[in-house]
Amino acid sequence: MRLRRNFDELEVLGEEEEAGGGGVGINFEAYNDIPVKATGNEVPPPVERFDEIDLGEGLMQNIRRCKYVKPTPVQKHAIPIAVAGRDLMACAQTGSGKTAAFCFPIISTILKNGLNSGPGGTRTVAQPSALILSPTRELSCQIHEEAKKFAFKTGVRIVVAYGGASIQQQLYNLEKGVDILVATPGRLADMIDRGRVSLKMIKHLALDEADRMLDMGFEPQIRKIVQQMGMPPPGQRQTMLFSATFPD
Ligand code: AMP
Repeated sequence: MRLRRNFDELEVLGEEEEAGGGGVGINFEAYNDIPVKATGNEVPPPVERFDEIDLGEGLMQNIRRCKYVKPTPVQKHAIPIAVAGRDLMACAQTGSGKTAAFCFPIISTILKNGLNSGPGGTRTVAQPSALILSPTRELSCQIHEEAKKFAFKTGVRIVVAYGGASIQQQLYNLEKGVDILVATPGRLADMIDRGRVSLKMIKHLALDEADRMLDMGFEPQIRKIVQQMGMPPPGQRQTMLFSATFPD
């Protein structure tokens, strides 16, 4: 799946309009002609509207609250694929709406399968059912903020963990329960080594800006997290990889 225009071009060509939470959104109406290539076996077809997919009422209400009228090109294609439980590699730029493209299927599936973080879910070892890996503190915080809007009043708990800040507050947040953990690789590996996070319940793994993570030298840590730290293997978990380019 390839989205050819980057955020700058979207800004120039698209008309800005008010989005949910008082922020400025992008008029994605102008980008329906963006070429998208999907390959794979019997790929679930794209949708034109969010209500063509059974995302659950709580999430649908939040999509309306965010004033997302129509899915962006990457969302049209990626959401049906991911909701079907399939693995996905998507080439999508910053500003294309990829955060919702991986968050909606994760939140929707968690709501269908039951929360992990509900009352009595407090544990000293946090056991998220979804992990979103991202290269930087800034991106992790951005994903966390967006995901919280999507999960508003659903009971799905999202916690963020990144390096360069005190680990104590982050561990405290995890103790209160977590369904979706958004993390940078180094801080996550540290928490696993300390025995405070377990990956054995992971059903969804999303790697955001995977190419940037490789450029930043995170490959050994990502390999360790994915292959040697107790995460269920491919086939028993869903993997979604988002990247601005497809490096070898
Ligand atoms: P992202 O690429 O995920 O960082 O999203 C870029 C911006 O587009 C964010 O401000 C999102 O809130 C907004 N956005 C994402 N999807 C939609 C949509 N379907 N309709 C309107 N705005 C959206």
